[in-house]
Amino acid sequence: MTRLPAFRTGQARREQGHCSPAEGLDIPFCVIEGAAPGPCLVVTAGVHGSEYCSIEAALRLMATDPAGLSGTLVVLPIVNVGGFRARSIYVMPEDGQNLNRMFPGKPDGTASQRLADWLMTRVFPGADAYLDLHGGDLDEALTPFSIFPGASAESRVLAEVFGLPIGVAAAPGGNSISGAALAGVPAVLAEVGGNGIWTEAGVDQLVEGVRRVMRHLGMVPGPVAPAPGGFEVVAFLVPKADVSGLWYPARALSDAVRAGDVLGEIRDVFGAVLQTVTADKPGPVLYQLSSLWVNAGEALLGLGVPTGA
Ligand SMILES: [Zn+2]
Repeated sequence: MTRLPAFRTGQARREQGHCSPAEGLDIPFCVIEGAAPGPCLVVTAGVHGSEYCSIEAALRLMATDPAGLSGTLVVLPIVNVGGFRARSIYVMPEDGQNLNRMFPGKPDGTASQRLADWLMTRVFPGADAYLDLHGGDLDEALTPFSIFPGASAESRVLAEVFGLPIGVAAAPGGNSISGAALAGVPAVLAEVGGNGIWTEAGVDQLVEGVRRVMRHLGMVPGPVAPAPGGFEVVAFLVPKADVSGLWYPARALSDAVRAGDVLGEIRDVFGAVLQTVTADKPGPVLYQLSSLWVNAGEALLGLGVPTGA
């Protein structure tokens, strides 16, 4: 199996190719090391294979010039290659599991568990900071925000530096940034774009966010300007479908919802209302299921609830 190259050799270089996190998995990588010593920043994308702004942004970051770089930039632009090729929603086709629920993984588990374990044991230990680029999936519309491990002050700083206007302080879970937090690495999961569409503006927003973090870490010269849209820390409120049916959202992205407001309805094919979904707390709509069909138990939307509300 092909391994990732060393992150630090003291030689300015770009190494790229494919590596094998586990048998049957083959993913592209790019390791860019500057001549000057400095931190190692790991950037992943394509944990969800149909979140295209994130993948295209990571591919463009692979063109970073080693000249003038201090430290190492490691880019894994399409972690879930099988999902990218199959245009999967959420999961790795190899095992039907969501990699972003599998951390810290298992060395002898299924494909997604082994991939999570590889990131935990082979990638995060060499990282000083970690950025995981995402967006809304094929069935999700989304306004840009970031998520960081709420207990990590360093991660909160990175989320603010990244420059998206809202930062969700998240509880520990099975996602990539929780894995990084377990490994002691400050981490941010950035969300831009959705519905299977990639735009230059969305790609630019993610590329610029990574570059802002690189400036903050001293990997490239230059000051970090304040985030253009400010920065507000919120908590996630994610109402789920109690029943399967047709989903009719009542609010648009970024709408300022008040507690008690109707967020949407789930109806049967004859129009009978099966569930009316209301907001327990206030906050803007950060993302929303755009699929007409929803299965019981699935997330309908995410509200960014102001801390203290
Ligand atoms: Zn995602």
